[in-house]
Parts: sequence; structure tokens; C-alpha cells
Amino acid sequence: MPPAKKLKILFVTSEVVPFVKTGGLADVSAALPQTLTELGHEVRIVCPKYGAIDERRFKIHEVVRLKDLSIKMGEKDVVFSLRSSFLIGQKARVQIYFLDNYEYFGSKQSLYVDPATGQDFPDNLERFTLLCRSVFELINKLGWVPDIIHGNDWQCGLIPAYLKTVYKDEPLVQNVKTVFTVHNLAYQGFFPKSEFYKTGLPEDLNSERGIEIYGRLNFMKSGLMFSDAVTTVSERYAEEITKDEELSAGLKSVLLKRKKDLFGIINGIDDKVWNPELDSFIPHKFSAKNLEEKSENKKVLCEKFNLTYNPDVPIIAVISRLVDGKGFDLIAEIIEDILQLDVQMVLLGTGEKKYHKLFEEMQANYSTKFSCFLGFDDELAHLIEAGSDMFLMPSRYEPCGLNQMYSLSYGTVPVVRETGGLADTVERVNEKEETGNGFVFKKYDSSELLKELKRAVKIFQQEKKLWTKIQKNGMKSDFTWQSSAKKYVELYKKLLIND
Ligand code: ADP
Repeated sequence: MPPAKKLKILFVTSEVVPFVKTGGLADVSAALPQTLTELGHEVRIVCPKYGAIDERRFKIHEVVRLKDLSIKMGEKDVVFSLRSSFLIGQKARVQIYFLDNYEYFGSKQSLYVDPATGQDFPDNLERFTLLCRSVFELINKLGWVPDIIHGNDWQCGLIPAYLKTVYKDEPLVQNVKTVFTVHNLAYQGFFPKSEFYKTGLPEDLNSERGIEIYGRLNFMKSGLMFSDAVTTVSERYAEEITKDEELSAGLKSVLLKRKKDLFGIINGIDDKVWNPELDSFIPHKFSAKNLEEKSENKKVLCEKFNLTYNPDVPIIAVISRLVDGKGFDLIAEIIEDILQLDVQMVLLGTGEKKYHKLFEEMQANYSTKFSCFLGFDDELAHLIEAGSDMFLMPSRYEPCGLNQMYSLSYGTVPVVRETGGLADTVERVNEKEETGNGFVFKKYDSSELLKELKRAVKIFQQEKKLWTKIQKNGMKSDFTWQSSAKKYVELYKKLLIND
């Protein structure tokens, strides 16, 4: 039977904007369900209710049928509720269920890592086992049966395994298909085998045939093995993880087994939120037609970061988690060389202590050229995109990357490494042809990065017309979610037809 035109999709995620965010997953988890809803499908979201989520502000309320549900976690009875709210977009309203349990989520402000120790929370296996199991309890109690359960990253990795084992005889979920999206293969959810009993999965999965790899349980492996289709967030990354030993992060053999069911679908960006013509966080709205206004934002940015405004000196921006994977080891090697150039730099980020220390030192030593805010600030991120000239993103690997797409849309020219989603979205400038929208280097090497950055600075300072052309080339790109969401719909339908 062909699938119904209007699909029901249960989207499960560990973070969603505006409720809670640590990275790009939160943006995707809001934009994709909204766009699917705009396309006429019925989407509902499940996400944990961490202590940091403001219940009153988001009008999160009780659902009588979903109150005080319980599951067994080893010997323990775990009681939880699913509370309801809406993700409100301009065109679509999406129902969201918050998984409410004080011990696992409500008592914790952070999502995955305990800020007191810098380590993963010791009960992460239990926390995200509960997330995965709550999905089936939700379906049973509501009687709302999705066609597709779409899980994201290791936190949702057990869902397909449950569907194929513990819940396989439940009449309601007989025809449900699962999609598992990898946003970042580097975070896999490892746990000791001794904790397996808490999952309630059949014991034969506590082995290499199941969810174990290299002597530990691995929730990401579970998602990869048991889902009906695996997707990742760019075509290039999908290719890289099945070929490159390092990028496959130890899961190459598992990925190769799923190669025919592995698809790359690039993320879009939310063009109502990240759009220089509409952005309510920026003081001067602009488009490719009135790029002069961008320099007004640059003035405000300079003020905010205590730098002197100079239209002839490019501002190089960085907004990122401060971790090695984002290329900060390269930046650290050459930051003083960069600051010898006639440039200014602004940086917004939080992460590893060594980088906090480095950037504090740089700010002290190069106060007229380097300025940073070591924290998380969404509003400031918008101003930086609007006011800067270049955006530096030399990632070691990049499943998709959002900031290079935001930068392209804001006429802020990206300087990136050729990997993953960066390779799929940034085309290297060809000076003669006047084509391309950014600067790209190949080898993960700080001198390659410096060379390409110098090329960008030179064009900025000496070839103004070409620079404007590069900006406009970027601003023309279409990164709307519509086309990506349609690809997900095609995939969902394919799975349902193959039933
Ligand atoms: P990742 O998901 O690997 O962190 P992405 O580029 O896909 O990288 O997405 C990062 C998202 O988080 C972007 O929306 C970026 O603007 C945002 N972001 C990262 N660090 C900060 C910060 N310190 N303050 C505000 N936004 C940030």
C-alpha cells in the first residue's frame, strides 16, 4: 500500500531551540519538524525537561494520561511524566512532549556533562535509556501511532533496538519505521557492559552482535545497526565516515554494513531566524542590495567588543564550541601570526579550559586586535555574523556545520577546511573567474590555514570589487530547510513503501 500523503512523525531529540541548546542539533530539532509541518505532515517532538528549561516561560503543562508512567530500570521502578507544550514557529506549531523526571533531568541544569566535574553525568545510561523507552510508553498511552520514529544521535540510539526486541509484539508499533540521524559520530554514548541490565534489552545484545563494541556498550552503534535507515547531515560526511578511519571514529565496520541504507541530507538553516533582512537581533538589517548597512553592524560590533572601527581592516570572527575537533589546535598554533596581520578578531565560545586560557591571554596581549566573550550568547552570535567580514572554521571534521551557512547568508566570507558539510557548502574562490563564495584549504595543517587566510585578507584589502562579488555569491545560496525536509519525506516514504 502506498504511504499516506500526510505522514505522522515522532521526532526524538535531546535538545531543541528555544528551549535548550548546546549545538547545531538543537537548531535542526526545531527547524526540521517545523518545515515538515509546513509541508503538511504531522510531527510531534519528544525531548527531556532539563532543569534549565523554564516551565512557566514555555507554558509546559501536565497531560493527565501521560502522568506518573513507570518503567523498570534494572531493579528500580522509574516514574516519569510527559508534559506538553508547543514549539511555535511563524507558520507552524509543533507539539512537543517534555520527559519529566526530577532525578535524571529536572535536578540537572546541564545536558550531558556535569559542570562540577567536567565529566559526563554518571547516570547518563539511565537518563537516555529512559528517553528511548518513554517514546514507546507515549505511543501506548496516547494511542497516537507515528509512521516514523526519527531519532537523533546516541541519546536516541536504543530506540530502534527496543522496537526490534522489547516492543516488537506491541500491536500499535507493528508498522512503525525508524530513521536514525547522526549529527556527530564523535560522541557515541559509551557505557560499561555491567550496566547493560538497566536497559531491559535481551541479553544477547550485550555482545559484539548487539550494541557492544571494543568491550563497551555503545548507544550510537545501536542506532546505526537497528534503524531502518541511517542519515547524516551532509553528503560529504556520509562518504567520509565510511572511508576515513579517523572520521569513522571506530565505527567503520558498522557503517559499511549499513552503507546501502546510509544517506547524506544537508541541514538547512532557519531563514526566519538567520536572515539579515529579518533578524531582530541585529541593529541594521541588510541584504545583498544594500550591503553598506553591513558596515553599520560592524560599527556596533566593534563597540561591543571594544575594538576601533576601521572599514579597511577585516574582522575575522569565530563562534564555536572551543574543542579540538573544531580546529582550535590549528588556530592555537598560528594565532599570533594571524594577529601580526592587519586584521581584528572577535571570538565567541566556550569549551576546553586550555582554550579559555589561551584566548584570555590573547585578549590581554593584543587588546587592540583581539577580543573575546567566553560564554554562550545567541544574540551576540547574530551580531557577530552581521558585523564581521570573515568567519573562520577550520574544523578537523564537520558533519554539516551551521555557522558557515549563516556566514554565507550574512555576507561574512567563510574560511574553512575542506571537510564534511563545509566542503558541500563553501566553494573556493577563483580570482580569475570571480567564482566561489569562500576560502578553503585541504590539509589539516596550520600553515595551510594561514596561507589561505592571508589570501582572503589580501583580496579584502586590495580587491574590493571582487570581495563584494564573493559576498554576493554567498548571499545567493539557498540553504532553506524546504529542500532538505523534502528529502527526508522522500526517505520516510521509501521506507514505508518497502514494508
Ligand atoms: P556544532 O553543532 O558541532 O557545535 P554547528 O556549526 O553545527 O556546530 O552549530 C553550532 C551552533 O551553535 C550554531 O548555531 C552556533 O551559532 C551556535 N554556537 C556555538 N557556540 C556558541 C556560543 N558560544 N554562543 C552562541 N552560539 C553558539
